[in-house]
Amino acid sequence: MPIKNRLAELQEEIAAWRRDFHENPELMYDVHRTAGIVAEKLREFGCDEVVEGIGRTGVVGIIRGRSGSDRVIGLRADMDALPIYEVTGLPYASRVPGKMHACGHDGHTAMLLGAAKYLAETRNFDGTVALIFQPAEEGGAGGKAMVDDGMIERFGITEAYGMHNSPGLEVGKFSIRSGPFYAATDEFEITVTGKGGHAAKPHASIDTTLIASHIIIALQSIASRNADPIKSIVVSVTSFRTETEAFNVIPERVTLRGTIRTFEKELRALGEERLKALVPQIAGAFGGSAEIDWRPGYPATVNWEAETTYAAEAARTVAGDVDTNAEPLMGGEDFSYVLEVVPGAYIQIGNGDSADVHHPAYNFNDEAIPAGASFWAELVEQRLRAA
Ligand SMILES: [Zn+2]
Ligand SMILES: [Zn+2]
Repeated sequence: MPIKNRLAELQEEIAAWRRDFHENPELMYDVHRTAGIVAEKLREFGCDEVVEGIGRTGVVGIIRGRSGSDRVIGLRADMDALPIYEVTGLPYASRVPGKMHACGHDGHTAMLLGAAKYLAETRNFDGTVALIFQPAEEGGAGGKAMVDDGMIERFGITEAYGMHNSPGLEVGKFSIRSGPFYAATDEFEITVTGKGGHAAKPHASIDTTLIASHIIIALQSIASRNADPIKSIVVSVTSFRTETEAFNVIPERVTLRGTIRTFEKELRALGEERLKALVPQIAGAFGGSAEIDWRPGYPATVNWEAETTYAAEAARTVAGDVDTNAEPLMGGEDFSYVLEVVPGAYIQIGNGDSADVHHPAYNFNDEAIPAGASFWAELVEQRLRAA
C-alpha cells in the first residue's frame, strides 16, 4: 500500500490545519502564532519532548521509537510566508493584507505535523525522530539560526531531510537529484561615486551613469569569459538607482544591486573575486570610485549521495516511481546550512498544475498531503527499521 491508510484518513484534518496557517500568514522570524500551534499539536500528539525558541522561533519535536538506537533522523518543514498581496480569492485566503503563504510552507508545516501524529501513534521504528519546524526560510536564514543555536548537537541528529512542493510536477510524484540542487545566492550593492554636474557640461563632471553602465557590461564577462562554460553561474544586476530623476543632471552617485548564483564553491569564490576586481578598477579608470557591499547569501543546497538514494527509495515506495534526475534550480534554499553539517537530502513533491511559487495566485495543493506525509513516515520506517 503506497499511501499510508492512516494518513489518507487524516487528510481532511491535515488540510484544515494547512488552511488555518494559510489564513494567518506570518513573516520571517515573526511566526509566533504558527510556532505556538505547532508546539501545542506536537504535545497533543504525545511527542516525548517539544522544545520552542530554537533559532528564535523554531520548534523541535522529539519522538522516540521502540528501542534505543543512537540514530536520530531530522525531518524539516518551514513555517514562514511572504510579503505578497494574495489574489487567489480562496475562502481561506490570507486575512493579513500584504502577507501570503505563496511558497507552500503552510503545506510543508501541515504535512510534517500529519507525519508527527502518525509517528507518535505508531512508533514503528527504532531510534529517534526530530521534527524540525523552522522560521525565516524566505531570506532570513532561519535554518542557519537553528543550526547556530546548537540544534544538531542538542538532539544528536545524525541525518536530515527536507521537502519542498514543486508546481508543474504531478501531484503525488517526487523528484530529487544527488549533488547540487539549489544555488548559492549571494548579493551585492555597488555604490559608484563620481562628480555630479550639469548634463550639458559632461567635461566638468565624472559621469556615474556611464561608469555604472560599463560595470554592468563588465560583470557579464564573469559568466561568459571567466567561468568554465560547462558550469553554471548567473550574474544579474537588478537595480540601477541614480540620485536624481532630472533630465539635465549628472548624478554624483549611482547604486547598483544584483545577485550571483552558483552551485560550486570554486565558482562562488570566482564570482566574488572577479566582481571585486572589476568594479573599483573600472570606476577608477573613469576617474571615479566604487564601494562594494558584498552580502553572502545561502550556500548551495547539495544533496548527499547515499541519503538521496534513501529518500528516493521512500518516495518510490509511496509514489511508485521517482524522478532521480531533477533539474538543478538557480533559486536558493536555507536547508543548505543543515546539509553542510549532517548528511541528508532535499526532495521535491508535485504541486500539480498550479501558479508558480511566489506568485500572488499560488496555492499549495491539499491533494499532495497524503503522499507528502506518507513520504516522511515511510522514510523514518525505512531508515530506522524496527528490529
Ligand atoms: Zn519561497
Ligand atoms: Zn519555499
